[in-house]
Amino acid sequence: MTDLHRLSIREISEGLAAAKFSSRELTEHYLKRIAKIDPQVRSYVTVTNDVALAQADSADALRQAGQATALTGIPVAHKDIFCTQGIKTSAGSKMLDNFISPYDATVVAQGKNAGLVTLGKVNMDEFAMGSTSESSFYGATKNPWALDHVPGGSSGGSAAVVAADLAPFATGTDTGGSIRQPASFCGLTGLKPTYGRVSRYGIIAYASSLDQAGPMARSAEDCAYLMNVMAGHDAKDSTSMDKAVEDYVANLNATTLKGLRIGIPKQYFNVAGLDAAVKARVEESLKKLEELGAVLVEIDLNMTESYVPTYYLIAPAEASSNLSRYDGVRYGYRAENPQDILDLYKRSRSEGFGAEVQRRILIGTYALSAGYYDAYYVKAQKVRRLIQQDFLKAFEQVDVIAAPTAPTTAYKIGASLDPVEMYLGDIYTIAVNLAGLPAISAPVGFDQDHLPVGLQLIGNYWSESQLLSVVHQYQQATDWHTQRAAIAEENA
Ligand code: GLN
Repeated sequence: MTDLHRLSIREISEGLAAAKFSSRELTEHYLKRIAKIDPQVRSYVTVTNDVALAQADSADALRQAGQATALTGIPVAHKDIFCTQGIKTSAGSKMLDNFISPYDATVVAQGKNAGLVTLGKVNMDEFAMGSTSESSFYGATKNPWALDHVPGGSSGGSAAVVAADLAPFATGTDTGGSIRQPASFCGLTGLKPTYGRVSRYGIIAYASSLDQAGPMARSAEDCAYLMNVMAGHDAKDSTSMDKAVEDYVANLNATTLKGLRIGIPKQYFNVAGLDAAVKARVEESLKKLEELGAVLVEIDLNMTESYVPTYYLIAPAEASSNLSRYDGVRYGYRAENPQDILDLYKRSRSEGFGAEVQRRILIGTYALSAGYYDAYYVKAQKVRRLIQQDFLKAFEQVDVIAAPTAPTTAYKIGASLDPVEMYLGDIYTIAVNLAGLPAISAPVGFDQDHLPVGLQLIGNYWSESQLLSVVHQYQQATDWHTQRAAIAEENA
């Protein structure tokens, strides 16, 4: 079969079960596509050919023995922020360019237990700081819809591999939008779960109170399959929730759109940088949801103006603390011929970290310093609570909240946004992380340059099943999620 990469996860699962093809054939098909197409997209940092083929063979053997699960033998790509035993784990940084992880992140281990086949590790903004994937030490990944545009970030590699059909689905992490925004820029579906739903163990930390891992794929249905693997309590992560995991696939039809109350925050549609085409596509998608039975309710989210300043104090503050471990001594990059210990720290960190990471360490260290801690960090924490309360008040009125995922479509590579401009592009995604809520992005059309537009739906705590179900209902009635970039149509 030459079009294995066009199958949905359910179709792959059924095909493997019916022995229409083996995991080995499927894996070889993807590896060939990667070899042929990825030199243009530049999404993989590491392709794990041998590991993938060995895992595919064991998956086929398990299936022969009648021990396969729904996902046994299906390939996946992992963001290069998840520790993978024996495989380089770089977080997109020169600092970790030489780091071979001695253990697997829980998400990676859960994937192995389910029989997933690891195709490799994919590119990202350095330490997940950014919105374009351009801050990676390995250079920019291209948007499969237009190779001179960015795929978004920080999980840009995860989005690009799925959009170019170089993996059927991928893992991502989202600290302030890094699953949803690249999904939006690449025409995919991406879910950021409730904080604590997925283990953070073995994920290279950016901002620990905001980081959360989730699935990126073509459809809500494909995401549900990966969520079934990723979700769950982990004794190794004390912030993971000991709460029963739902069957996200079985629940895809559990929510009906009939009578579903969708909140439309007034403030969100009056944001200065909101692109006209993005606004139009999002409004059309809301009309469609209304046609399908949903009720649109105008709501207030009065804290909107505080999102960007609050996030850009808390995230860098936590990052500055998390990144203090990279000192050139224990692991990671070490400067050559240091004069003394201070010189070793200074040069290892100056040479090992890129500009955006250094900027955030500076901001975060400043915000946490004795003289400014109350004025900045403590104040930001108080505002964070108000942002959460604003959402909780809204959820007394509505079931989900709708918003654009990002104010624009994908930027041109090298558009050289100044940092503040780039931070403003996070306005619709970061409050969700500050509040710890789940949210999903789904494709709802294109702009005048045929770049994808995403609709974001924000749910109350632990409502990921409902979010997947709502998007699934929408995707049953529309076909934006089935459209493919030209490069994805190429056969290996
Ligand atoms: N763009 C945001 C930032 O740079 C979000 C990144 C993320 O979610 N990892 O912090």
